[in-house]
Amino acid sequence: MSPETSPPVLELRNVTKTYRVKQGIFGKAKPLTAVNDVSLSLPRGEVLGLVGESGCGKSTLAKILLGLETPTSGQVLIDGKEILAQDRLSLARRIQPIFQDPYSSLNPRKSIFDIVSLPLRVHGVGGPQEWDRKVREILDIVGLPARVMNTFPSQMSGGQRQRVAIARALIMKPEIVICDEPTSALDVSVQSQILNLLGDLRREFGLTYLFISHDLAVVEHLATRVAVMYLGRIVEESDVAGLFDEAGHPYTQALLKSVLTPEPGLGVPDTQLGMAYPNPIDPPAGCQFHPRCPMATDLCKKVAPRPVETARGRVECHLLDPQSPMHDAKVA
Ligand code: SF4
Repeated sequence: MSPETSPPVLELRNVTKTYRVKQGIFGKAKPLTAVNDVSLSLPRGEVLGLVGESGCGKSTLAKILLGLETPTSGQVLIDGKEILAQDRLSLARRIQPIFQDPYSSLNPRKSIFDIVSLPLRVHGVGGPQEWDRKVREILDIVGLPARVMNTFPSQMSGGQRQRVAIARALIMKPEIVICDEPTSALDVSVQSQILNLLGDLRREFGLTYLFISHDLAVVEHLATRVAVMYLGRIVEESDVAGLFDEAGHPYTQALLKSVLTPEPGLGVPDTQLGMAYPNPIDPPAGCQFHPRCPMATDLCKKVAPRPVETARGRVECHLLDPQSPMHDAKVA
């Protein structure tokens, strides 16, 4: 069955996460909506790239998927079963994270063998002989020699550490991997090696990835679909070719203009959006992107656009809504 026709292995239905945040010692607590009514569906074997600027809610979404945060409302389902109904250990067998910073995600006092074999020990899989065999096997798969088992993270390069983090994530053979900016702490020369490794592992083990990045060029390298997040909302979702050929949302267009580089993984986006990212405690009315949007009108300042289905996915912008009076205006 192709990824396009597979039933979703991971599904988010109208997921919202709101925090109460105090500004200053005497300030009144105000709501901050980090994730705002997000619905996404991830068929088995697919790579969904989740893209947006820092602070847009990507990492909160990752924490919800890993069971580290509880949504305020909405549902997260794995194979049709609510994530909240599954215990922590069985969830950890099925869904594993790879984080941005291999320097801080690996315990510096533990040997590579201890770090990589930890999930086996926590889940009570096998004994010392099997741990040794499985660690050697997974290190080989991620391109590390068995001799590193007795070394420590401080003795390794950034790329080698990220390979260790990948080995630890995959040793229990999870179905879903949440990659949260897995290459952004690495040198440019190492980034493509890690992206290629993640691509190879996906094909070899039939993995499903949610690949979170601020960098559309990195996402293009690996993703089959892309969701663009702005102030906690998915403002556009599309197959990857469609998004790069003909982005619909003005925010996606701005991200694309700023990150197109000759090599995937190069460069941090200068979003060319003029003003800074808005404060999520005090989001703009109407379309939340309107203060930065070159196409904004009075309607955008007052009325939030509704999600509209397109041939390639979904988008939230009055310009692309056939029922909106702005529909005939051309997107710059
Ligand atoms: Fe820009 Fe208006 Fe579309 Fe929002 S709805 S992205 S402000 S044109």
